[in-house]
Amino acid sequence: MMKTPLLVSHLFAYSQTYFPTKEIVSRTSNGVHRYTYAEFGKRTHRLSAALAALGVRPGDRVGTLAWNDHRHLEAYFAVPNMGAVLHTINIRLSSDQLSYIVNHAKDRVLLVDANLVHLLTPIRQQLTRVQAFVIFGGDASILDGPLQPAYSYEDLLTQANPNFSYPIELDENSPMGMCYTSATTGLPKGVVYSHRGIYLHSMAMGLANTAALSESDTVMPIVPMFHANAWGLPFAAIWFGAKVVLPGPAPSPGVLLDLIAEERVTLAAGVPTIWLGILKELETQPRHVALRMALCGGAAAPPALIQAYEEKHHIPFVHAYGMTETSPLALFSRLKSYQEKLPYTQKLTLRATQGLLVPGLEMRVTNGDQDVAWDGAEMGELLLRGPWIADGYEDDERSKDTFIDGWLHTGDVATVNEEGFVKLVDRTKDLVKSGGEWISSMDLENALMAHPAVFEATVIGVAHPKWNERPLAFVVLKEGQSASKQDLLTFLTEQFPKWWVPDDLIFMHEIPKTSVGKFLKRSLREQYQDYLQRRQNDTEIPE
Ligand code: AMP
Repeated sequence: MMKTPLLVSHLFAYSQTYFPTKEIVSRTSNGVHRYTYAEFGKRTHRLSAALAALGVRPGDRVGTLAWNDHRHLEAYFAVPNMGAVLHTINIRLSSDQLSYIVNHAKDRVLLVDANLVHLLTPIRQQLTRVQAFVIFGGDASILDGPLQPAYSYEDLLTQANPNFSYPIELDENSPMGMCYTSATTGLPKGVVYSHRGIYLHSMAMGLANTAALSESDTVMPIVPMFHANAWGLPFAAIWFGAKVVLPGPAPSPGVLLDLIAEERVTLAAGVPTIWLGILKELETQPRHVALRMALCGGAAAPPALIQAYEEKHHIPFVHAYGMTETSPLALFSRLKSYQEKLPYTQKLTLRATQGLLVPGLEMRVTNGDQDVAWDGAEMGELLLRGPWIADGYEDDERSKDTFIDGWLHTGDVATVNEEGFVKLVDRTKDLVKSGGEWISSMDLENALMAHPAVFEATVIGVAHPKWNERPLAFVVLKEGQSASKQDLLTFLTEQFPKWWVPDDLIFMHEIPKTSVGKFLKRSLREQYQDYLQRRQNDTEIPE
């Protein structure tokens, strides 16, 4: 067989040839912007030319600090097409983390949304390798600000050589992108993606067993384009010719739902907290939506959330699992055809698992050196390998702790049932070890979120003088609903062994979230680690 390289530029060229009239809709600070794939293609080409004129060469890193919009999408293709490396930067990092990753990645040019420039101005002096800041949008005065040298994106595109030619064929294993993932302790870790990995990951998104993404879809990545390639959706959607909808700066649940309804989005993707927000909006101000798949991942989707979307709103809700290190999609929870006959509660339980391995990957769930039995009970760490799984962190000693003997050690503890469905029990560090026995914080959270009065819930392990660790729950109630601590603990007692039930439950207005919308357990742990001891001593307890 021919050894044609698998390159991002091939996805782009195919899409330009076959789908020039398809539409890209992008919400920006100046209103909704619409254009065709053909216009997108011309601008993408000009962006490559403009970057080359700024001195970017194959292998150089180009950072983006931007929301999900059409200019970010142009960068998604322009940078890899020219052989350079697209480094998407999380806009919610601290100044220290930002300067660390821009320097560590050796970013040469940064593409920055005008309304995010303020994140870089205090650290400009530390970004010694950055030679140019290219600003998306904003007025001319922003170019005279402290971020220098600064260029207007639109001006650069206008002046760029439209006949710029791309470098000769690249090696498919060469880097095309990178993204940093936050570590539990220490500095963020850089994951580098290859053309081959992203090509195959995009192809996997089109499989009927996964997202079945196709030309007939209207795809809206809600998941930020600065996080794990927005789950690879921009690459797959453009390749296959889908209409693309990009929700722009800081979209609220109302804005998202309006876009879903008005643009007739068929597939949207986000973390559970996003889907919880949209559900609330759907219930207070219903809109007609045409979603064929609400894709939810990044954190466990509570069964109650799946049920609410499907039973009340007839929106198919699909749970998937992945990591920055896995490009990211690795597991997809869709029933096998013969499982459709199972009773609803059994189907729901299965669909709330993280699901089956995506074709193309390999997995093991191990306890020490031994693989666990596929009995839905024995727990072990999930290991993955395959063409879109990273094999190390960029220039980082910590690689050796995670990439061992050719396998990525995910740090996620899971069981596998007889059919191969993987159920995450917890992150290794989130499992609660009470008197030597494991308690799954994820199971408790899912159960709490099934209570009709509960909006959000999370559970952490905190120190206990006798049992070493005990679960502590945090709950946000739905607006206008009430439930007492005792109601909720009794609700759990009906479903779990007594020793699983949290020692206490704290009501909050909001659970702190990570930069990508997951529950920020670390900050709760810091604040509440000695809560039970203090309660025992009857000392002051934080609000
Ligand atoms: P990140 O690299 O920041 O996207 O985080 C990856 C981690 O998120 C995984 O290792 C899991 O712990 C968690 N995660 C991702 N998807 C899911 C899911 N569907 N259910 C539970 N946890 C998930």
